Amino acid sequence: MNSTIISLDNFKPIKITSPGCCIYCNNHSENLTDEHVIPYALGAHVISIKDACCVKCQAIIQRYEQEVLKKQLGTFRAKFGAPSRTKPKDRPSEMRITFTEIDKHGQQLRDLGYKKIPLAQAPWYIVLWESPPPAIFGLPVAPGFEKGRLWDTGDRAAIDSICQEVGRDKGAKFVKAQIGSISRDMYLRWLAKTAHAFAVAQLGLDKFKPFLQDIILNRTQEIEKYVGDTSSHKDRNIEFKCDDEAKGWFNIRLKLDPDGRYANLVLVFIQLFPEFKTPVHCVVVGDVGVNVG
Ligand SMILES: [Zn+2]
Repeated sequence: MNSTIISLDNFKPIKITSPGCCIYCNNHSENLTDEHVIPYALGAHVISIKDACCVKCQAIIQRYEQEVLKKQLGTFRAKFGAPSRTKPKDRPSEMRITFTEIDKHGQQLRDLGYKKIPLAQAPWYIVLWESPPPAIFGLPVAPGFEKGRLWDTGDRAAIDSICQEVGRDKGAKFVKAQIGSISRDMYLRWLAKTAHAFAVAQLGLDKFKPFLQDIILNRTQEIEKYVGDTSSHKDRNIEFKCDDEAKGWFNIRLKLDPDGRYANLVLVFIQLFPEFKTPVHCVVVGDVGVNVG
């Protein structure tokens, strides 16, 4: 078993030498740029691969990476002071919360508009996605959970009190708040991209047969085959031990399990903001054939 936990608080930056081609499409382009395995916005310069991404792939990846880092995680990052290349004036300074009146069964009744709250006074809030295990494992999945569901956490008491205030102002009994947005598709593709780049950094591009390039480059909708979680089940072979002491923004670990049930598979586990007991994502990056590794 080969595993590495990257706790970003005490990690020395690593720069991997160029594989000589784009790690996402394998093209030997002349215009390759350095690839940050873990985005600057979540860990500064932690691991990068020199000359590893072509212009075409970068344009595809950037679309969903920006969506995840700005729209999904932007206000949380700003509130907790994550590194940012964005000029201070362009960073979010407030949190936008949208309100809906609901009945006691949770059915939507009417739109109550939105409020912008200065970031310093805004409740903290994280929105992620939780999924069943990658479908390639063939494990049972609860009906209705095949695509997973939104996972969030935050300062519930503060959010409730804002909802009550809106309810009083608008004459609504039950008010639901929506903070931030998440696109499952973009978030899971971004996990795939991050896991693939991490495996390349740890093993080398020629050491495994990659499964994820079609997902990363938006060429398939079949994301759940390889991208899922471990937190919703207890399968011994793919369980990721959550480190209760884990802090920081990002934990990532690569596991090879040559004697286990999933022999030959390269698994990468990713957990964002581990101290909030967030879902542990499990990404099946590829296959180490008999002649490699
Ligand atoms: Zn490429």
